[in-house]
Amino acid sequence: MTRNYVTIPTHKRIALVAHDHKKDDLLEWAKFNREALSRHKLYATGTTGWILEKELGLYITKMQSGPLGGDQQIGARIAEGSIDALIFFWDPLDAQPHDPDVKALLRIAVVWNIPTASNRATADFLISSPLMNSEYQRQLTDYDEYRQRLQQQFGQDETPQP
Ligand code: PGA
Repeated sequence: MTRNYVTIPTHKRIALVAHDHKKDDLLEWAKFNREALSRHKLYATGTTGWILEKELGLYITKMQSGPLGGDQQIGARIAEGSIDALIFFWDPLDAQPHDPDVKALLRIAVVWNIPTASNRATADFLISSPLMNSEYQRQLTDYDEYRQRLQQQFGQDETPQP
C-alpha cells in the first residue's frame, strides 16, 4: 500500500475521555496542563466533558456520555478527519458496559494514525511534544486498494472518503 499525508493543524482538535475511576486522574492532569490545552479545541464524552468544562473553565464540545454513544461519536469524527488527537484514560481494572465501543474507538484511532494517550505518562509526553504547537504531516495508509477490492467485480461507485 502507498502512503498519503494529512496535515494536523497547529491548533489541534483534541478528544478527552476518561472512565469513571480515571476521571480524577484526567482532571488532575488537565488542570496541570490547562494552559497548554487552552491553545487547542477540546472535545469530550458527556460526563468527562461536563466535569472538565466546569473545573477548567474552558469550552468543551460535549458528545453523548460514553455508554450512550459518545465513544462512537468521537470515533466517527476521527474517521471523518475532524479530531487530531485522543487522550483516553480507560480503566484496565473495571468491566465497561460499552466495551465494544471502547475497543472500536481505540481501533479507529490506529486506523487513522491519530496520536493517542491511554495513560498519564503518555499524555505527558504528548502534551509536551513540540509537535503539539506546530503543523504535523500525519501519515495515512492509502486504503484505496481496500476500498476498491470489490468495486471492479460489482461495478460499484467509490465509497466516500474523508
Ligand atoms: P463519560 O464517558 O465521559 O460520559 O463518562 C466516558 C466513557 O466511559 O467512555
